[in-house]
Amino acid sequence: MMKISNQLKFEVVVASHYGMCFGVKAAIEIAEKVSQKSPVTILGELAHNVSVQRKFEAQGARQADLTENIAPTNDVIITAHGASDKDRKRWASSGYRVTDTTCPLVHKAHAALRNLVSAGYHPVVIGKAGHTEVRGLTGDFPDATVISTMEDVETLRLTCAKIGVISQTTQQLTHVEPIIAALRAKFASSEIHFIDTICRPTKDRQSALLELCNKVSIVIVVGGKNSNNTAQLADKCRKLGCTAYHVQDPDELIPAWFQKATTVGITAGTSTPDEDVDRVRQKLLEIAKS
Ligand code: SF4
Repeated sequence: MMKISNQLKFEVVVASHYGMCFGVKAAIEIAEKVSQKSPVTILGELAHNVSVQRKFEAQGARQADLTENIAPTNDVIITAHGASDKDRKRWASSGYRVTDTTCPLVHKAHAALRNLVSAGYHPVVIGKAGHTEVRGLTGDFPDATVISTMEDVETLRLTCAKIGVISQTTQQLTHVEPIIAALRAKFASSEIHFIDTICRPTKDRQSALLELCNKVSIVIVVGGKNSNNTAQLADKCRKLGCTAYHVQDPDELIPAWFQKATTVGITAGTSTPDEDVDRVRQKLLEIAKS
């Protein structure tokens, strides 16, 4: 059948859950309010996204590491990814005005780990070593173990009778569950208590992705190139059999990608603002009309 000129060459479907989560949105809103009153230093990245970073830079915001001791401004902001009590107290006791935008679901993960340690479990976090959230979770427990892969389980040496495990809030359940099973098999004589601390927005985005990949063969994943969560979403699409392109900006879309497409999906990482997704969607519709 011939296509008439105003017909779309392919349909564009947006995932039912995508993009910036409520925790990061709230942190950005709070940080904006504070930075309108006085200059701020953000302790880490509010969102792993250049458009958010540029916006704050334009407002004069500075950046420092959470584990440093000095900041160029009196106001410092802890991001949605949280901080250890040790770091939080150090900033406050050094005379800085601390605005804490830690997501309530990250607080929940901290509470889960604290409870496990209080009950005598050796703390294990499944997550990306070095990530702000994982550093925050383990910061008050120097003997905590961080693992991220099955290979880490193979090389892990633990002799404790009780092992308490939580996960970084943005991990994929399909990645975490086999790791828990491997831990149980390897440390069969230890009691292993796992508390699932993957947050609801992450789970919703993961199931929405599954649904999307059942409908489309190409997925555009929108998000910062420095966003681990966005890169993971693109990987997941590929594992689900889709062709995935990770783009940060609409100008990165190449019309040749869609020559044979009938339906193209869009999703976005949890640090991607809605405006970035809209700009990519608009460009995709232009390509579909051309
Ligand atoms: S990813 Fe989840 S835990 Fe992290 S900030 Fe967003 S809602 Fe909160």
